[in-house]
Order: sequence, then C-alpha cells, then structure tokens
Amino acid sequence: MKRVISLLLPLALLLLLGGCGESAPAQKELFAMDTILSVKVWGGDAALSAVSDELLRLDALLDATDADSEIGRLNAGQTVGGETAALVEQAAVYSDRTGGAFDPTVYPLVRLWGFTGQTQRVPTQSDLDEALKSVGTDHIDFSDEGVSLHGDAEIDLGGIAKGYAAERCVALLEQNGATAALLSLGGNVQTFGTKPDGAAWRIGIADPSSPEHSIATLTVHGTKALVTSGGYQRYFEADGVTYHHILDPETGCPAQSGLASVTVIADSGTMADAYSTALFVMGLERATDFWRGEQSFEAVFVTTDGAIYATDGVTPEDCEYTVIER
Ligand code: AMP
Ligand code: MG
Repeated sequence: MKRVISLLLPLALLLLLGGCGESAPAQKELFAMDTILSVKVWGGDAALSAVSDELLRLDALLDATDADSEIGRLNAGQTVGGETAALVEQAAVYSDRTGGAFDPTVYPLVRLWGFTGQTQRVPTQSDLDEALKSVGTDHIDFSDEGVSLHGDAEIDLGGIAKGYAAERCVALLEQNGATAALLSLGGNVQTFGTKPDGAAWRIGIADPSSPEHSIATLTVHGTKALVTSGGYQRYFEADGVTYHHILDPETGCPAQSGLASVTVIADSGTMADAYSTALFVMGLERATDFWRGEQSFEAVFVTTDGAIYATDGVTPEDCEYTVIER
C-alpha cells in the first residue's frame, strides 16, 4: 500500500479583501486548532487580543489529541463539566437533529484512519467494526456533574469547535467595541459588523479541485458564519484511492455522498459548523430535504462533478449554479 500525503488547507474559504480607501484593520495570524487562524479587526486592538486569547484558550480546552485538554480527560474516562460539557451537549443535539450524520463520538474512527496525526492508513473491516461499537451519542452520559462516556467511547469536537470558537469571538468583539472583523479559522469564516467603507463582505468558496482558486463568490452583510466542509481539506491516497477526513458514522468510512464541498451560511457559527459536516455526509438529496425542514441556514453545494447548487436564500456570483427551491 502506498501512503502519500495528507494535506491541510487552511483557507477553504478564500477571503476576497478589496476596497480602496478602507482604513487598515489590526491583524494577527496564529496557529491553533490544527490550522492557521487569521484575524482582522477594525476598531480595537483590545478586541484583537481578546479574540486571539480566546482562540488559544479554546484550542487548549477542546483538542482531543492533547491528553491534558478537557476533551482529552473526558476521553480518558473522567467527568468534565462547564463549557466543555455544554458544547458536547450542543454537539449531541446537532447529532440528533441531523439523524446522526454529524456525530461527535467519531473519534475512535478518526484515530483508526490516522487523521489525528501524520500517518494515515486504511483500516481493516474488523477494526472498523470494533470501533463502530463505540460510536453513537447513546455512549454519552449527561448528569448534574457534567459529561462522561461509556466504555471505549471518545469525543472529537473537530467538526464543531472552530464554529463555536467563531461564535465566542463574536461575543468578545461586541464586548470590546470592535466595529468590524473578519476571522478565517481553517474552513470557517466569520464576518462581524460593517467595514469602515460600508462595503459588503465578499467571500470566495474554494474550488475543491484547485483550492487556492475560488469557484464562486458569496456576498454577505453584517455578522455571519460561513463554514465549508470539503473532502479536499484533509485526505490521503492509497492504492490510487483518495480517502478524506469526513467520516460517515454509519459505515466508519469517508463519506461518499457525491459532494466535494458544502458551505453553510448561518447566524450561529456552531450550528453552521455542525451542519456543514452533516450535510457533506448526507449528500445533496438528503441535505436538501434537511434544509427544507430546518429553514435556519443557507447552503452552497459543490458536487464531485463540479456542479454548484445553492439554496434559494443565497446568490453565489462568478459561477453557474442551480437554485434549490424551498
Ligand atoms: P469539518 O471540517 O467541520 O467538516 O470537520 C471535520 C472533522 O470533524 C474531522 O477532521 C473529524 O475530526 C471530525 N469528523 C469527521 N467526520 C465527522 C462526523 N460525521 N461528525 C462529526 N465530526 C466528524
Ligand atoms: Mg464542521
């Protein structure tokens, strides 16, 4: 078997910053949550440092690969409370709503495929079957003390943590008097407020077959979360087959749903992040039904054939696409 590369593309959504005469934002780049995070803030250095500190704090709290993090301790059999328990509970709610397409208990599978580290591999079916026994939110216990896990169950908040972090940052930007901000956290973009020149935010959706280029442009106003899940963001190849990091909790294998990426646009970063992962697993047809039932977000889908579909509340530019009617 040939093991090749695992690529982590930090900017799934490309930021199309332009605008003449716009006053310069304070900005910072940091490495956390296994990717490069970039933060631009207009109207407040205090907000910039509050946001940076928050991103580092949440990374230390929620990183499943760190035995000392709260998720590390939870996975080692301890009970954890507070914010971590609340986020695990939220993740379990989204799992429920998406019929298990999003599932925070996928960590035994993620480890088996090696997506936690540098070395990826195709597991045997018997290893997958064994790991699948610990997958499912029925392995999570919630009590007054907090959250704990049954047996070999383990939590991975990688599919929701960056969205949650973006949402927390919005609260800090408000508290610290920022007028506008643009956060790029891996595949997650969070806009906040209005730039000094009053221009709308223009965000590019990465082309899954050439992620440094954009395949479509989205225009949004004010504060929004735009989260992309894509098979191209992390993957490896073995024996000519590409295996990506978004797993179908039913099979334990990379979801083969006919989608190359899903971008969810919503007010809540946490929800957008959970749903982008879930919709990728569901595939276009199930995802469309789910969107019709939910009414709380918009989405842009890119299929593995390169076709673009957009729900009727969003208008992608610089591309041809099919509208999904309500
Ligand atoms: P995202 O980029 O938000 O779609 O999240 C993908 C990450 O979430 C993966 O790297 C895994 O850590 C984790 N993950 C993979 N599959 C799932 C799933 N079906 N539900 C929840 N988390 C998942
Ligand atoms: Mg996600």
